[in-house]
Amino acid sequence: LVLVTVRLSPSSAHSGGLVAYSESQSKHGTHSVESSQTDPKKKRLVVLGTGWAGTSFLKDMNMSSFDVQVVSPRNYFAFTPLLPSVTCGTVEARSIVEPIRNIIKKNIGELQFWEAECVKIDAANKKVLCRSNHDINSVGNGEFILEYDYLVVALGAQVNTFNTSGVMEHCHFLKEIEDAQRIRRSVIDCFERAVLPNLNEEERRTNLHFVIVGGGPTGVEFAAELHDFVQEDLVKFDERISSYAEQKFQRDGIEVQTGCRVVSVSDKVVTMKEKSKGEISSIPYGMIVWSTGVGTRPVISDFMKQIGQTDRRALATDEWLRVKGSDNVYALGDCATISQRKVMEDISTIFKAADKDNSGTLTVKEFQDVIEDVLVRYPQVGLYLKSKHLRKVTDLLKDSEGNDREEVDIEGFKLALSHVDSQMKSLPATAQVAAQQGAYLARCFNRMEECKDNPEGPLRFRASGRHQFRPFRYKHFGQFAPLGGEQTAAELPGDWVSLGHSTQWLWYSVYASKQVSWRTRVLVVSDWTRRFILEGTRVVFE
Ligand code: FAD
Repeated sequence: LVLVTVRLSPSSAHSGGLVAYSESQSKHGTHSVESSQTDPKKKRLVVLGTGWAGTSFLKDMNMSSFDVQVVSPRNYFAFTPLLPSVTCGTVEARSIVEPIRNIIKKNIGELQFWEAECVKIDAANKKVLCRSNHDINSVGNGEFILEYDYLVVALGAQVNTFNTSGVMEHCHFLKEIEDAQRIRRSVIDCFERAVLPNLNEEERRTNLHFVIVGGGPTGVEFAAELHDFVQEDLVKFDERISSYAEQKFQRDGIEVQTGCRVVSVSDKVVTMKEKSKGEISSIPYGMIVWSTGVGTRPVISDFMKQIGQTDRRALATDEWLRVKGSDNVYALGDCATISQRKVMEDISTIFKAADKDNSGTLTVKEFQDVIEDVLVRYPQVGLYLKSKHLRKVTDLLKDSEGNDREEVDIEGFKLALSHVDSQMKSLPATAQVAAQQGAYLARCFNRMEECKDNPEGPLRFRASGRHQFRPFRYKHFGQFAPLGGEQTAAELPGDWVSLGHSTQWLWYSVYASKQVSWRTRVLVVSDWTRRFILEGTRVVFE
């Protein structure tokens, strides 16, 4: 028997561009972590989260000007749009994750990564309390405190169960890599159970009944993957399962039930209430996936209470992604939303300022200048330019006979705008928004010194001078919804909708190009190729 032990010095854990830190311990066993190597003149920047927003921020950030610390319970980035493909083995889990240290390796400067959860943001004292998610016995009480000058909150969102009873206990979620792997095992268990000899017809049927709650993109994509799995891969299975499942799926296919709300989930059935008639019905299931939108993480709810942002789902920020009511704290991605109320107030102020003689009207030229100004500052208004409500605004430029007006009524504009306001919901909780916000904020931090003396932003409304930076501007590049059977639906910029096989190829190319590293790009493409060449061999039978 040969026993090989490898003992590394603690400093090796800090290799690869990471810095060493000194710690002081409080009487409660909570460590306060302080930088011991970096330039004390550097401002301390703490980043919470390594998802789409956090990673995109870190990837573009020049670390040399700040003392950067990153906190996240996972030390990797996961490409969430391909999570549904992991559930049925179309792509491997390892193909869509990349260690965060690899992603930022090319950056200038150093950072410290802490694999832990932030459990409290103490904005008044500019501190965050973190807790390691490693075995508590091996890391003391696992808690430590980080102090910051700037805090970037990119904590994402958590699943929203709407407090429905039984959901936490019995449903699968599709948010993390582990969720996708659990679903993958569960799918295959359902098929294996369905052929056990001691099951009757009804029980077999129940085992092959997959329920997806929530008809958003994630639910649809999972349904599409499951459909493909049944159509293409099941032939490799025990003949009894494959013929039974094939018949069932062909006969029943995917049934969509709308207009009902799930009221409870037990280990065997899901109970629903029809919205219009209030009728209650129950369906037995083999596996259930809960995919109904996003909820607020407790640490964010607690922070919102501290800064007076109650009754909200996400942290309200201004157009520069600064959290309202808290200095030097920025929020981006799914945990944040740009406050529209402030936008509407500011638009009103712009109009008031333009109406110099207080007449309640503007000339057409003045009106057009104001609209242009509004669109520069608030690009999201532009998203609704095509909406019928904003068309009412442009209609204001014409009289009832369709002739150009000389003057425009501001009240009429405000009325039209109030319709836009109700339509102008916050930006969608998507990877696209999160990644753009991360890149935008990194640019702001990289230009912080430069723009102090030479601000690049628009004129301030209520004070003199300009804003330091341009406000965040979201560019929508379209959205995909894979439908199964090598078909995809896409909503593309310019109001284009594209469907079918060619769109599936577009989907492949876009998702391959969006991978965060060459390693994941090669792995994802080879997973797809494997599926094409050896059709019916998703690696689901593990
Ligand atoms: P996340 O990416 O969720 O990152 C949050 C980060 O915070 C994670 O690193 C997490 O570990 C960390 N964290 C959590 N709690 C703590 C804590 N207490 N302390 C420290 N760190 C913490 N969007 C699209 O645009 N297109 C798509 O096709 C698409 N498909 C999707 C498919 C699925 C299955 C899912 C789940 C989402 C999909 N999305 C898609 C949405 C997209 O993934 C999210 O909008 C995006 O991940 C939001 O980025 P984020 O950085 O805000 O949050």
